[in-house]
Amino acid sequence: AHLARIGATDEKVNAFLHVDREGALAQAAAVDAKRERGEELGPLAGVPLALKDIFTTVGIPTTVGSKILEGWIPPYDATLTRKLKEADVVILGKTNMDEFAMGSSTENSAYGPTGNPWDLARVPGGSGGGSAAALAAFQAPLAIGTDTGGSIRQPAALTGTVGVKPTYGGVSRYGMVAFSSSLDQGGPCARTVLDAALLHEVIAGHDPMDSTSIDAPVPPVVEAARNGSVAGMRVGVVKQFAGEGYQAGVVQRFNESVALLKELGAEIVELDCPSFDLAMAAYYLIAPSECSSNLARFDAMRYGLRVGDDGTKSAEDVTALTREAGFGDEVKRRIILGTYALSSGYYDAYYGSAQKVRTLITRDFEKAFEQVDVIVSPTTPTTAFAIGERTDDPLAMYLADLCTIPTNLAGNSAMSLPCGLAPEDGLPVGLQIIAPAMKDDRLYKVGAAVE
Ligand code: GLN
Repeated sequence: AHLARIGATDEKVNAFLHVDREGALAQAAAVDAKRERGEELGPLAGVPLALKDIFTTVGIPTTVGSKILEGWIPPYDATLTRKLKEADVVILGKTNMDEFAMGSSTENSAYGPTGNPWDLARVPGGSGGGSAAALAAFQAPLAIGTDTGGSIRQPAALTGTVGVKPTYGGVSRYGMVAFSSSLDQGGPCARTVLDAALLHEVIAGHDPMDSTSIDAPVPPVVEAARNGSVAGMRVGVVKQFAGEGYQAGVVQRFNESVALLKELGAEIVELDCPSFDLAMAAYYLIAPSECSSNLARFDAMRYGLRVGDDGTKSAEDVTALTREAGFGDEVKRRIILGTYALSSGYYDAYYGSAQKVRTLITRDFEKAFEQVDVIVSPTTPTTAFAIGERTDDPLAMYLADLCTIPTNLAGNSAMSLPCGLAPEDGLPVGLQIIAPAMKDDRLYKVGAAVE
């Protein structure tokens, strides 16, 4: 049924870069056969899922939304892919995304933008717009995203779905193509809080193949999602997540959510986190710096595209021609910015300062979590914007992640869930819940209470 739904809608939505029809049907048949033999089934047996095209999949192309990996078929599964298979999930295919997860609208994909199912002329957010759109278009009940600065939560907010950025190190990055390694984190996307929790539990856990993976038990997210409550909880509202640039309808729905939390027995605490105002600037030094290092591996020798290899050119020329043709504008912009920020003479002024700001942000969170159990905010300052509206203005595009970026810099956990439609445009608004590292279960407890 889901394959049929994809067939009927995806020409318009463009959520998928690759639909693995045969693989999905074979996996579904294998689950049926297991069931018939009376064998024990995985926790998500037979449930279809849309996988962001940033995780390696044996035998299935992995492009990361880039031309430079066109035609590359990975020889190994990401740990996350392996865990999905072990849970008997049916992987429907790979979803569209901003190239190398750099973007907030999925318009930076080399394979064309994805439409927001609420209004196809608008963006579904990014970088994981394909996964979010697949959920909103009922093409899949579960999806996987990755969140470096908001790429799970922001698309969830813009499509009226649920997305969770787990604690950094909570879900393995092995086999997840790297953008900014100290920020990147895979996580679950779904249409309900409980569905997200069930998926979270399957993909999380320690992995010796990822040196930043946390060696501790997975927080009890499913139990929390089944027992939603905020009674007696202290909920923080941060002064810095408000003001100029926030759409009236977004603020209205957010205020209603805060009133609901109060009604359900939470105590609301106002918080001041002054360093959050610097988060965007720090992020756009740290993320490009790490990207300029990570993307050096795309040298035309190892994977995917190779341009100009006609026997007359040097290896350096082939590398340069391949990068020229294979990387899009935003990726080039960030490689150049990052290389500059890391160059000797500028390192301390840019990268070094950004790292100091990162420490200040972490401390602001630590202080905040001495006073509250969770923090809430709007996920994004505005609802879904029109395709093309911000493509010529990178700074306007970057603002979409104003509320999500601090969490990545500090490494703690956060969720976005729908909290109604903005009265002025009828589009979904997202409520963000932020919890300390390894307290991901609090997101689900609160999320399930206000859902
Ligand atoms: N929009 C942000 C960026 O462009 C975040 C992307 C992400 O989380 N992958 O970097």
